Amino acid sequence: MNINPFESAMSQLAKAAAKFSKKDEAKLLTLLSQPQRILNVTIPVSMDDGSLKIFQGYRVQFNNARGPYKGGIRYHPQVSLDEVKALSFWMAMKCAVADLPLGGGKGGIIVDPKSLSQQELERLSRGYARAIADCIGPDKDVPAPDVNTNGVIMGWMVDEFVKSQKSKVKSQKELLQLKSTFTGKRIQDGGSEGREEATGLGGLYVLQTILKKIGIKKQLTAAVQGFGNVGYNVAKFFIDAGITVVAVSDSKGGIYEPTGIDVDIAFKNKKANGLLTGGKKITNAELLELAVDILVPSALENVLTRENAKRIKAKVVLEMANGPTTPEADTILYTRGIPVIPDILSNSGGVSVSCFEWEQNLKGEHWTKEAVNKKLKAKMEKEATNVWLASKKYKTDLRTAAFIVALGRILKAMQ
Ligand code: NAD
Repeated sequence: MNINPFESAMSQLAKAAAKFSKKDEAKLLTLLSQPQRILNVTIPVSMDDGSLKIFQGYRVQFNNARGPYKGGIRYHPQVSLDEVKALSFWMAMKCAVADLPLGGGKGGIIVDPKSLSQQELERLSRGYARAIADCIGPDKDVPAPDVNTNGVIMGWMVDEFVKSQKSKVKSQKELLQLKSTFTGKRIQDGGSEGREEATGLGGLYVLQTILKKIGIKKQLTAAVQGFGNVGYNVAKFFIDAGITVVAVSDSKGGIYEPTGIDVDIAFKNKKANGLLTGGKKITNAELLELAVDILVPSALENVLTRENAKRIKAKVVLEMANGPTTPEADTILYTRGIPVIPDILSNSGGVSVSCFEWEQNLKGEHWTKEAVNKKLKAKMEKEATNVWLASKKYKTDLRTAAFIVALGRILKAMQ
């Protein structure tokens, strides 16, 4: 089944915009149905065997009504312009739901990073940073990591970007300010405490807030699809909070252990030999249909579809990946009484701490992990409550409610 993520995003927009006055609905649909700018770049890379290879990359700047464009950079063979457009639109919504002074953007390169050596990966990352350098900056567009990118890659990119702007840097303070162009950096490169685990921790805070509203108090079980930065961290924080994680998976498949998986051991083994250990082997399709309390898609888009939505047995879906539920699946799950806590709220902890990193770099400050996590908790609880209240006021699902909150804020900024 070929599902276009940008079409899904636009159908979510239409559903939420319909809750506004006719005039505002028309304005929202007109201004948010296309990105403000699309950068389509080619990146020549010298390969280790002496050959030259061209890679295709994108940076989509969707909307900056509330502040500089903000969003991650994805390395994946299936990156497409429509995917990057959808992800940049969701970033605009996410930054508005989290009430951050930022707009939405996203980047991507069509590449299987596992097929590259570390040196090739560095040359590709530096080449991409040079290719988009004119269009980014602390007050223009602030990229970050996403699937298959991390703090090391952000370090290469920020270094390359700063080099390209050398003539403009006059002091140590200005250098740090320029470093705020990329977030998700390692601490030694100017990163924030708590950024690496922020998406997962924010997801836990959002879940706990919504569960309190729903009134679910019992001992919970969870299945987590995807075991990268987000999946691993969310699983780890769930366990710390007393939730039993009975299944996890990666692109090769999953493991299931009803008494609970030790995710630290599973993560160590995956790093050491590429294999998940600590449970019975299951497929990703089986993981999604397990009888658990909380299902947590934390990999890629379109995993909950009209095909499997009727078989989902979880009581709540916490979307940690971007765009894991198609609009048709959303309707089926809502009709079946399974709340879907939407991506733009559940995974907004990552961009919130990215925003804190940007702020720290601009002010020349470095906050403690305690301070960062305290701010994150307060933000997640406040905005999850706002979305919950909107879902009651407009008698609608949580995704549409989150969009209503975001669109209301963007509309105000565009007036
Ligand atoms: P990552 O590259 O660290 O991990 C991705 C994980 O997904 C890997 O374990 C990979 O094996 C797994 N995976 C890939 N294809 C799969 C499949 N078909 N089935 C099951 N697992 C599969 O990426 P990440 O940063 O953890 O991002 C995951 C999701 O979270 C993405 O949708 C991303 O956009 C979103 N997200 C990430 C952040 C962040 O801070 N990193 C913030 C917000 C949203």
